[in-house]
Amino acid sequence: MRNFSNDKSYALEQDSQDPLKPYREQFHLPRGKDGETCIYFCGNSLGLQPKAAQEYVVQEMVDWAKLGVDGHFEAKHPWLPYHEFLTEQTARLVGAQPAEVVVMNTLTVNLHLMMVSFYRPATRRFKVLMEAKAFPSDQYAVQSQVKFHGYDPETAILVVGPREGESYIRTTDIEDVLEEQGESIAMVLLGGVNYYGGQAFEMEKIVQAGHAKGCVVGFDLAHAAGNLLLDLHGWDVDFAVWCSYKYLNGGPGCVAGCFVHERFANRPELPRFSGWWGQNKQTRFRMTQEFGAIPGAEGWQLSNPPILPLASLRAAMDIFDAAGMPALRQKSERLTGYLALLLQDSCGENVEILTPEDPEQRGCQLSIKVREHGKQLHEILKARSVVCDWREPDVIRVAPVPIYNSFIDVFNFVTIFSEELTQLKTQTV
Ligand SMILES: *Cc1c(COP(=O)(O)O)cnc(C)c1O
Repeated sequence: MRNFSNDKSYALEQDSQDPLKPYREQFHLPRGKDGETCIYFCGNSLGLQPKAAQEYVVQEMVDWAKLGVDGHFEAKHPWLPYHEFLTEQTARLVGAQPAEVVVMNTLTVNLHLMMVSFYRPATRRFKVLMEAKAFPSDQYAVQSQVKFHGYDPETAILVVGPREGESYIRTTDIEDVLEEQGESIAMVLLGGVNYYGGQAFEMEKIVQAGHAKGCVVGFDLAHAAGNLLLDLHGWDVDFAVWCSYKYLNGGPGCVAGCFVHERFANRPELPRFSGWWGQNKQTRFRMTQEFGAIPGAEGWQLSNPPILPLASLRAAMDIFDAAGMPALRQKSERLTGYLALLLQDSCGENVEILTPEDPEQRGCQLSIKVREHGKQLHEILKARSVVCDWREPDVIRVAPVPIYNSFIDVFNFVTIFSEELTQLKTQTV
């Protein structure tokens, strides 16, 4: 980083020049027991509430009270096409054509729906390639799909992990597995960013390597949407799913996203689990027996969607879209780079950052392996109004997110972190 300094004035200076600084004001920041604003580094787990979200939700409550069923057509934002209000912004967020995206269901549900269509194992090609330490829900979903098709997860799920002594996976190792075993792999399913170590996978290269061997390539973007610059269409990704309550700040359990590449937009022969909300809009209310899918991602919808969470998601996406991913990503790289440098500067050998150093291979999260006293340290941080999370056996995950975190947040975090870690070490000597 240019002119990096471990001095507080450096952080203040960076904040004063930050064009995204005003966005912090648009969120509710939790307060600690002492009434002080928390250092909130947990946006990778649950993003903060946009102040406007309440108003957006209340609007729907008011329209429901006033209009009853007529709200489907006459609400200020009619419920019938409500999910469509999110289409353009969602498409920009992930680098897709509007017809390639839809907000619907929740993440694991969408993952299953996508696998119904895109995991089509056959005798010679039945395997799934995943990353080591994939998020548990993804592991369970894949295991159950494999079993559903009559295969054994032990032999059908291939896992690529870091090499001995390394903390993240080399892209070339993923490419090598594809090169060697690609013909037996039906589907590649990786996280866009691994939730544990924070590694961002080189998606475009992986799609190329997978497609070269005839594999379907999908991504779980739970930790990538709203974090990385994505170009799903351009990278030729087959399908992707993500949730909206982490970096996107949609609210707990909010409606998830789904991407299906344009080339599958009109493929009625693709197997899918269908519902009436995926039915062609012209004929949906004729209540006919025959299903004809809406072309594109919308055709995978099942139910009429929950309007209240969609309303809070609209509030969040309006902010995201106004800030724009390119500017957010630019700030994010600097913020996380600053965090990494400060940590190394003040904690040295006592910590190890498991997340790749290359900005291209990480988002905003850093996973910090604390050699000793990690769990105690995490508890003390919590008591000091620092919100971050603990992953057994020895990792503290922190995510300075560019939309509401600041350089001074990072500075204060590292000050508290190193102070308390030093304290813990001297106590036990
Ligand atoms: C957060 C997360 C989930 C959670 O799934 P839900 O269906 O939203 O509960 C699943 N997979 C990954 C990779 C995640 O990061």
